[in-house]
Amino acid sequence: MSRSVLVTGGNRGIGLAIARAFAQAGDKVAITYRSGEPPQELAELGVLAVRCDITDSEQVEQAYKEIEAKHGNVEVLVANAGITKDTLLMRMSEEDFASVVDTNLTGTFRVVKRANRGMLRAKKGRVVLISSVVGLLGGAGQANYAASKAALVGFARSLARELGSRNITFNVVAPGFVDTDMTKVLSDEQRAGILAQVPLARYAQPEEIAAAVSFLASDDAAYITGAVIPVDGGLGM
Ligand code: NAD
Repeated sequence: MSRSVLVTGGNRGIGLAIARAFAQAGDKVAITYRSGEPPQELAELGVLAVRCDITDSEQVEQAYKEIEAKHGNVEVLVANAGITKDTLLMRMSEEDFASVVDTNLTGTFRVVKRANRGMLRAKKGRVVLISSVVGLLGGAGQANYAASKAALVGFARSLARELGSRNITFNVVAPGFVDTDMTKVLSDEQRAGILAQVPLARYAQPEEIAAAVSFLASDDAAYITGAVIPVDGGLGM
């Protein structure tokens, strides 16, 4: 059955791979993106692309209105949009900290809260949050990012308890290092240092994260909620 799926930050990287997987499975997919032009591939897949900055509640509301008008209530939400602003603590400004939290945590709160309206009415919903292995292990120079990603676990597990009886599941995928724009900024030395710690000795491809998300949104995962699924090549074990 074709479901209405929303993937935030679905114009590139991991979000694009997730949107592609749902579209190829026959779902009605919408993505949001913050800036630039979404790739032509999305239009060819019939994916609805809506510009929306998740740090702005009004833009989130407008995006949902547009998506609901075209696809009906969102049944599967993948909260994937996120940013990094890595720097050491003593150089980290309050703005560096607050902006990462406002996007990764509060932005996720905004999109989840709005999606829940329709899910409560439908008495069914699937929410998958994209955290990070860094949220579980910490990362030097990433206190803002790690704090925001760790918080997603408490957020998801609270909602799993609060809304389980309404047939809405909340799960977290915690990727390791994935080949995307976010990790292209790392130096060769940083990349080599990371790979030395990954048992599978390679970066993940975005499609490998998408596979876990598709599973958590599928009927096969109907009895899974509050779970944190690492897709990290063994880095976090
Ligand atoms: P990316 O930088 O390629 O894409 C990030 C996406 O988030 C973009 O589509 C961007 O438009 C969107 N976004 C950022 N700020 C936004 C805002 N204010 N409003 C709306 N959209 C916004 O990154 P990626 O590597 O594809 O990462 C996707 C998610 O996976 C992020 O949450 C990231 O933290 C997480 N993650 C990535 C890795 C990795 O190694 N790449 C590892 C673990 C977790």
